[in-house]
Amino acid sequence: MNQTPPGNPAGQVSIASLDEAVALAKNLKEPGSIEQFVNWARKHSLWPMPFGTACCAIEFMGMVSSTVDISRFGAEFVRFSPRQCDLMIVAGTIVSKMAPVLRKIYDQMAEPKWVISMGSCSNTGGMFNTYSVLQGIDRIIPVDYYVPGCPPRPEAVVYAMLELQKQIAKETDIMKSREHFREAWVRGLKARGQTPKSQILHGKRESL
Ligand code: SF4
Repeated sequence: MNQTPPGNPAGQVSIASLDEAVALAKNLKEPGSIEQFVNWARKHSLWPMPFGTACCAIEFMGMVSSTVDISRFGAEFVRFSPRQCDLMIVAGTIVSKMAPVLRKIYDQMAEPKWVISMGSCSNTGGMFNTYSVLQGIDRIIPVDYYVPGCPPRPEAVVYAMLELQKQIAKETDIMKSREHFREAWVRGLKARGQTPKSQILHGKRESL
């Protein structure tokens, strides 16, 4: 990393190893500066978990390739193991049979974790207004950022990621705020008369 961490009197530094990061953190004396430092490191090291099921996944590939290149924002470590990831990017149509898989992968991801819904299909079911397609992934997992489009341009997803980075930088108690976010999601589902994951995941599609 070659950025200016918050509270660092020396200004811009290069951090090449964990030891260097720990040494730098030990010098931070201001109240709350350790948390800011951790948030700074976290926002510059998001590890995406792509859940690509259809055409939007091709645009996701554009996002990680040379022209757009999300490694410029510290998010180049795309992993297909949920335990190593903290940012799920859902790109494509999610059919009801796939819903439990999506939920399981979300559950297996490390905390704190975030979700970007990429494209109309994952946002709302898109053009597939049919019994077999989930009408929005937020019926089964909480979504932080929705990117509209069919498909959205890779730059639009990068914009969502930059907004997420701003949000991470401002967090004060990240685990608690993630918990509140999930509680608000469940309240929102209930207020809209929708049933959270249990019915969907057990195949009772009439409840969608
Ligand atoms: S939103 Fe459009 S481009 Fe994306 S998966 Fe659906 S149909 Fe394909």
